[in-house]
Amino acid sequence: MDIALAGIGKIAIDQHVPALEASPDWRLAATVSRAGRVDGVEGFPAIADMLSARPEIGAVSLALPPVPRFAAAQAVLNAGRHLMLEKPPGATLAEVHALADLAATRGVTLFTTWHSREAAAVQAARRWLAGRVVRSGRIIWREDVRKWHPGQDWIFEAGGMGVFDPGINALSILTGILPMPVHLTGAELDFPENRQAPIAARLQFAQAITADFDFRQEGPQTWDMEFDTDGGHLALRMGGNLLEIDGQPAGGENSIMGEYPALYARMAELVRQGASDVDLRPMVLVADAFTLGRRAIVEPFEF
Ligand code: NAP
Repeated sequence: MDIALAGIGKIAIDQHVPALEASPDWRLAATVSRAGRVDGVEGFPAIADMLSARPEIGAVSLALPPVPRFAAAQAVLNAGRHLMLEKPPGATLAEVHALADLAATRGVTLFTTWHSREAAAVQAARRWLAGRVVRSGRIIWREDVRKWHPGQDWIFEAGGMGVFDPGINALSILTGILPMPVHLTGAELDFPENRQAPIAARLQFAQAITADFDFRQEGPQTWDMEFDTDGGHLALRMGGNLLEIDGQPAGGENSIMGEYPALYARMAELVRQGASDVDLRPMVLVADAFTLGRRAIVEPFEF
């Protein structure tokens, strides 16, 4: 099936293009980007141009930041094409509800992806936790924004989500593996005095789970979560890629290169089935953190 990719930036080049080139299901037939290009693929400056010039392209994948994504997503669905969205699926929850309704009306697939759920050890963790009682949990997600998002000022604009841009990956794993629902009861958010989005956040959930997100970590990076249960201790390390049970290695592999191939395989399956997959649970937790969070002003941040 032909697919177009819009937003030829960091994640498109790092992950989407290699995943599409290796995909047995998809052919990258066009790109949409003001500046980015992929060799050998027709490029368009605007989504409307691509949609009218290439009616045979049945699906579009959007790798834009969340704020400019909604207008492009609406245009794709209104043109009757299947749509795949990077995480987070929108700047607001209401945007994504509107897209889900539009996809249903048009009879096309909408897939709101959560790439971290495809990490190597996530499904094994979900299976291990099923049937156990989770007594407490701790998430530590600390990374260097200068390393992973160099110069991306949009991430600290209103709607860019700040540290929740990576933190929502942890929440996508959390909501994907826990055997019970989880809801937020409190949050502390640290906003640099010159920015509109938080650079660090500490969250509390009703299920005795806490999360510590920080964008200022230099040196070794930490993407870990641990759970104490009635049947032992589980840890997921390296962003869901490595599993430990009772302190011993229990599977997975330390590579993120399987995540995007799995997302595109799932998108192909959804299109074949005529189905959609829209899961807003990770984004509800982020929205609730902004709703309930106590706000602190911290030192200014520059890239
Ligand atoms: P990026 O490189 O800053 O932006 C992607 C592309 O979107 C840019 O090349 C740009 O293309 C277009 N764009 C940026 N701002 C725009 C605006 N205001 N209006 C219209 N187009 C705009 O961002 P990214 O790191 O690839 O992230 C994109 C999405 O992928 C985000 O939702 C992020 O959470 C997700 N993601 C990122 C990573 C990562 O490691 N960076 C990992 C997983 C998921 P043109 O200017 O050429 O049009």
